[in-house]
Amino acid sequence: MIKASIITIGDELLIGQVIDTNSAWIAQQLNSIGIPVLRRVAVGDQWDEIWSALDDESKKADLIFITGGLGPTADDITKPLLCKYFNGNLILNQEALENVTHLFEKIFKRPITERNIKQAEVPDTCKVIINKKGTASGMQFEKNGTLYFSLPGVPFEMMGMIEEDILPLLTSTYKLPNITHKTLVTYGIGESMLADLLQSFEENLPIHIKMAYLPNHGLVRLRLTATGENKSLVEKEVNTQFDFLQELVKDFLVTNEDEAMENVIGKMLLSRNQTVATAESCTGGYIAHLISGVPGASAYYEGSMITYSYAAKEKSLQVKKSTLEAQGAVSEEVVIEMAKGLLNQLNTTYAIAVSGIMGPGGGMPEKPVGTVWIAITNERKTTAQKFHFRFNRQKNIQLTAMNALNMLRCFINEQD
Ligand code: ATP
Ligand code: MG
Repeated sequence: MIKASIITIGDELLIGQVIDTNSAWIAQQLNSIGIPVLRRVAVGDQWDEIWSALDDESKKADLIFITGGLGPTADDITKPLLCKYFNGNLILNQEALENVTHLFEKIFKRPITERNIKQAEVPDTCKVIINKKGTASGMQFEKNGTLYFSLPGVPFEMMGMIEEDILPLLTSTYKLPNITHKTLVTYGIGESMLADLLQSFEENLPIHIKMAYLPNHGLVRLRLTATGENKSLVEKEVNTQFDFLQELVKDFLVTNEDEAMENVIGKMLLSRNQTVATAESCTGGYIAHLISGVPGASAYYEGSMITYSYAAKEKSLQVKKSTLEAQGAVSEEVVIEMAKGLLNQLNTTYAIAVSGIMGPGGGMPEKPVGTVWIAITNERKTTAQKFHFRFNRQKNIQLTAMNALNMLRCFINEQD
């Protein structure tokens, strides 16, 4: 079986200034075409470290992916190092030069500098992978049967080259196993409860079908992965198991596709020809950000009122001053008035309102940090629910948003 290693280069990765998302993304891409990743290694911008990482990984891996350190600055030493490692000489590559010139003339619309032209120099022992999104060319080398791909550190440049050039190359070069993934999303049940519920299902899965739990913000994604030689057989088997799985988790099932809550809601509203608006206090527009991140959201999303202060809640949403003063902004009465006020203003089918204390300060004995009220309303019905989140500010905001969206999902389902 073909195996890969990923080496990410950069001092910033070792001090934690930049989180290494490149290797996670590359690993996902490779796994999806049936290439397992043996190791992910991060090294600094240091000659000896990079050199020995290459030596070490080439002992076991058939494919080695390297990202970072290709830029025109002095700390970028990957290219001279690879030149030496693969016994080459730096030469100006015509195709790379045309690409860099084209980028500067047509896309960046800036004069090209000597430093940029130097970026079109590559070792004569490599095959150039053209970078349509940036100036650092990718390089492909081969040594003792191992293939090496050196790619820029900038994520979207690296991604473009992998998607357009490298994955097609790998799938056409190697006979890779067929891998089928099926994913569903559950809500309202923790990972360990799910594991209890699914224990015997998991134990009885055929050896070539694996299940993974992927928890995030109160949701748990369950993924079945099947591997085998015969594509249609693999698909059939995984579909059968997936049907069983859906039945077992039906009380908690959000979607039987690998999609986010906001996409699920988008589809529900679209198919019913309905609309929604959001009134956000403690989430400061985060729910709006999630909803509007889905392409086509304008068909069902009317907008958001971010009302942080009492005054904003009164003026924009007609929340009564007396309610605010008597109950406080984080209360059932206030979120209900916010939701109703918004529905009135924007005439949507549904309105969501949230108000809470996200921390770290601002807690009170009767309303500790993490107290959140969420209301959903339409013309006929209103529901409100209180939550207690126990996390930091950022996670409390995410959980508030996710629960608000989930409440809307349940509310819509109840209307059907
Ligand atoms: P450039 O020509 O832009 O300098 P490069 O190949 O030299 O490209 P780096 O200088 O190593 O790449 O990194 C460029 C940027 O890409 C960094 O500022 C960093 O934000 C991002 N980056 C680098 N490595 C990673 C990584 N492993 N994961 C996520 N982002 C990364
Ligand atoms: Mg750089």
